[in-house]
Amino acid sequence: MRVANTAYYGRADPLGAEGDFITAPEISQMFGEMVGIWLSDLWLRQRPARCHYVELGPGRGTLAADALRTMRRFGWTPSVHFVENSPALRAKQLQVVPSAVFHDTLESLPTDTPLFVVANEFFDALPVRQMVSTQGGWRERVVVRNNEAGFAAMSGATATDDLIPEQFRSAAIGSIYEVCPDASSIMQQLSVRLAKQGGVMLVIDYGYTQAALGDTVQAVQSHQYADPFTHSGQVDLTAHVDFFELSNCAKKYGLLVAGPNDQGAWLSGLGIDQRAQILAASNPSRAADISAARNRLVAPDAMGALFKVLAVYAQDWPQPQGFGL
Ligand code: SAH
Repeated sequence: MRVANTAYYGRADPLGAEGDFITAPEISQMFGEMVGIWLSDLWLRQRPARCHYVELGPGRGTLAADALRTMRRFGWTPSVHFVENSPALRAKQLQVVPSAVFHDTLESLPTDTPLFVVANEFFDALPVRQMVSTQGGWRERVVVRNNEAGFAAMSGATATDDLIPEQFRSAAIGSIYEVCPDASSIMQQLSVRLAKQGGVMLVIDYGYTQAALGDTVQAVQSHQYADPFTHSGQVDLTAHVDFFELSNCAKKYGLLVAGPNDQGAWLSGLGIDQRAQILAASNPSRAADISAARNRLVAPDAMGALFKVLAVYAQDWPQPQGFGL
């Protein structure tokens, strides 16, 4: 999954109607604006003398551009840091945020002042490990070469019972349990930084909020589900994000946690409906499109309930908005 996704994102820009999938910031400028409002509120209440905007996996840079434009209206122009490993997407991001400083990993992010970190649909692109329950106990699923069709999955030889939470150990044969070591490691590293330097992190993605069983790896190509084991490197591979684990990582390193909340409730709480009305009033010919985009982001049967929003923040920092609904 790691090798396939590195090749996939490195090759070209996969986003948009003509690409493989579309994300919230590409649906409407309102999404990045709500992120910008949310960050500005915290910045205005905390007023750090200096700070940095950090985004993980910024895609086309659309979210950052919309958020930073909104932040400027409050008089805030932080320096911008993108953690991005795709050369194709870095080029796109520079077009819309020319001041961005790029990082391959978190280590080179500034260590001096508070960080305002945003990650939208980043964690779902990280590789997961899957454990499968077999007659002989839990085993890791491994990927093998299958001459005709590309790759296939089978259970490996090493026992992995120790990695399975107590409540799932005796689950039915064939049950699958996923872990995402990269997600845990990134969350831990950032939590240590935020606890020390101050700041907040906003994670938006689809996933589950309690430990769960299930195979959530999926492949998407041209907006259709595809087989994850064929056309490797040409399809988008994702897995659901374990918000329970991300929250626990943050708490372990002394951070406070707000959410997860549903994306729809979070956007509504921040005023997306008011923003949609204002945009429609100044662009009457686009009113129907604006309303459709708002519904896509907020409605429970669209992205509103599937996507979750989690905020983690340093002790002594203000409580973030949007989690009261
Ligand atoms: N946040 C954007 C794009 C989501 S797609 C949006 O909402 O539109 C996932 C993004 O994460 C892409 O920019 C991809 O290149 C980047 N990415 C995936 N795995 C990564 C990794 N291990 N390190 C850095 N960036 C990564």
